[in-house]
Amino acid sequence: MRILLVEDEAKVSNFVARGLTEERFAVDVAADGKSGLDLATTYHYDLIILDLMLPVLDGSQVLRRLRTDNVQVPVLILTARDAVADKVGNFEAGADDYLTKPFAFAELLVRIKALLRRGPVSRSSVVRVADLELDRLAQQVRRAGKRIDLTAKEFSLLEYLMSNAGRVLSRTMIIEHVWDHSFDGITNIVDVYVRHLRGKVDDAFDPKLIRTVRGVGYSIGHGAQP
Ligand code: CA
Repeated sequence: MRILLVEDEAKVSNFVARGLTEERFAVDVAADGKSGLDLATTYHYDLIILDLMLPVLDGSQVLRRLRTDNVQVPVLILTARDAVADKVGNFEAGADDYLTKPFAFAELLVRIKALLRRGPVSRSSVVRVADLELDRLAQQVRRAGKRIDLTAKEFSLLEYLMSNAGRVLSRTMIIEHVWDHSFDGITNIVDVYVRHLRGKVDDAFDPKLIRTVRGVGYSIGHGAQP
């Protein structure tokens, strides 16, 4: 099993590389994002351990480039940051697991083994509901092949609905996911944005995809009624 470790802190990378070698993994080390990306796209690895704060190209950029190039190797993010927004962003960009520094080697090893057992998963940056298509990486939306321009909030709202197609999402769930937890603005904000969204993705098309579930919230799915 061959592992690529992309980490600029020599202390951490020595400690991890030594531990992995003792566990009989073959380990290549890159000390910046660009050389990490070069190695990752040149050789075949079973797993990549990727730090986020890296010189030249940061870990998030490396991850996005890999996934855009369709490199499906499992990626474990290693980082000092533990902000929820970072985690969500990197999972959406195609990270498979996340470990916050400082960590015990034993914990890293458990996660590595779990990822290796699972192997590469096919993941796509594109979600589809009927003829509506949303590309998370390119941040583009099309319906029936026609490009639709959305604001950042409309895009997040649609992404959340489409990632949960067929499920009913309450206004509270939507607010917590699309806005942030401290949001305390007008309570009908969700209805206002859903109306904008319908105007763009549903009004000129059939069937209508966004469904209102009275007293509960919203859902998107095939053959939904307005
Ligand atoms: Ca670093």
